[in-house]
Amino acid sequence: MSKSLDAVLAPALHERRAQQLFRSRHTLTSAQGPEIRVNGKPYLSFCSNDYLGLANHPAVIEASQRALRDYGLGSGASHLVTGHSHYHHELEEALAAWTGRPRALLFSSGYSANMGAIAALVGAGDAIFEDRLNHASLLDGGLLSGAKFQRFAHNDMALLAARLERTTATRKLIAVDGVFSMDGDCTPLPELCRLAKEYHAWVMVDDAHGLGVLGNTGAGSCEQFGMGLDDVPILMGTLGKALGGSGAFIAGSDALIETLIQFARPYIYTTALPPAIAAGVLAAIGVIQAEPERRQHLHALSQQLQQGLVDLGLRSTIAPVGAPLTAIQPVILGSATRALLAADRLAEKGIRVTPIRPPTVPAHTARLRITLSAAHTADQVAHLVDALGQVLRELPDD
Ligand SMILES: *Cc1c(COP(=O)(O)O)cnc(C)c1O
Repeated sequence: MSKSLDAVLAPALHERRAQQLFRSRHTLTSAQGPEIRVNGKPYLSFCSNDYLGLANHPAVIEASQRALRDYGLGSGASHLVTGHSHYHHELEEALAAWTGRPRALLFSSGYSANMGAIAALVGAGDAIFEDRLNHASLLDGGLLSGAKFQRFAHNDMALLAARLERTTATRKLIAVDGVFSMDGDCTPLPELCRLAKEYHAWVMVDDAHGLGVLGNTGAGSCEQFGMGLDDVPILMGTLGKALGGSGAFIAGSDALIETLIQFARPYIYTTALPPAIAAGVLAAIGVIQAEPERRQHLHALSQQLQQGLVDLGLRSTIAPVGAPLTAIQPVILGSATRALLAADRLAEKGIRVTPIRPPTVPAHTARLRITLSAAHTADQVAHLVDALGQVLRELPDD
């Protein structure tokens, strides 16, 4: 007789536990914000991607509630059947206008947007080039597309050029994170886009962590570096981070968007986001555009945190004036054990910071991933730096 399901699954679970890599969930008992409750206990939170403090913003909630009253909860069908409401449509138009692209198309999640767009654009006989530290959804999309998958070392433009030089593929797609989710640094977009033009490759940027945070109007990495449609023809953004909601979009030309509507299976075969989410995100964009001070405050906090980490010997320098400041700051600690221990000690002090372990990050680079929000105060960041100093002084070496 064959073994039961549970008996077959047990060894891999056991191994995960033994390696200190077992993942588990904490149950939130409050809204998102700088002060959260987990299992009823209060904490200062530095682990949300709600970078502008909009997930729980009154204008966002109100717009969402109004749509909920008028349109109900579920969208009831996919966009191509009867799920595409005027809230969805208006949001697509607002996203296109904001990012300076002719059109935008909503997806139910960033994961499915990346999978869907990549598979619709490249396949057998083509090649996809990806940064090693890209988000899992870009990597998975590339691997599953059937295109020849070529990874390059993080931000290594010389290596990318060498790969582009050698390829004989028909279609060439370079897919990168605009802001890297575990390190908070940026892709050197001007150089990458220059290479793409030289080798006739297309550029796709996943701007999950840049949108709302970077650029003069918060339109993200492309705005920060002055990259237009011609440089970055495929722009992906998420609605679940700085925009405070859920879902994602791809922005680009009319031909790109029509291609995705016809051929992107994760677009076609999935229920549209709830209209109330679209309405809430639309309101969030309004807040972002009306209140640039949110972004400025976030940048000031980012600078303050970097200086604090320099003072603690955890960073060599702060970003030079004018360099892009993101909401993500890693503190690299080495082993998974050290990262877990540091996060536990911080939690004992009432502060939550997410420990990130392999395989999410490369071996020996387990870390605390600190994320800031415009809703934090300078005092809260100072408190975090103090607590980090205490915890790290007492942390055993690897
Ligand atoms: C969060 C994230 C995604 C996935 O977006 P979801 O909407 O959460 O599925 C994709 N890419 C990057 C870089 C992300 O950080």
